[in-house]
Amino acid sequence: MGYAGRCACGAVEVRIDGEALGVRQCWCRRCRKIAAGGPTHNAIFLTADIWIDGVTASDSYVADSGNTLTRSHCPACGTPILGGSSARPQMRVVRLGILDDPHGLKPTMAIWASEAPDWAIIDPAIETFPAQPPIPPQS
Ligand SMILES: [Zn+2]
Ligand SMILES: [Zn+2]
Repeated sequence: MGYAGRCACGAVEVRIDGEALGVRQCWCRRCRKIAAGGPTHNAIFLTADIWIDGVTASDSYVADSGNTLTRSHCPACGTPILGGSSARPQMRVVRLGILDDPHGLKPTMAIWASEAPDWAIIDPAIETFPAQPPIPPQS
């Protein structure tokens, strides 16, 4: 099983040779900046399974956890590509929007719900964490 995708302008392409370890939506303030006010939607994959073709730009910041988070996007169209934490270099969170449809992935967890705006609608059927959840199993 694998996935393919591209940014809005097509300058950056991704290919993933593996299954997602989990799919989450993140309502943290930093994510809402890059997701136009809503949550980011992220599929967690092993870094070794991800191939990127094209030039990306990135920014980094130190999170409350003390870990450095790095996020990359297409410098031409701004589409968010993926993110990663210095604490877990073996994993990346791929932004769901870059994957070609239909990819069949959907969020099963909402995280950082404590930072969601009061108008946010979070599916009560999915697991919700007020902040950072546990790391998913890697097997
Ligand atoms: Zn682009
Ligand atoms: Zn976030």
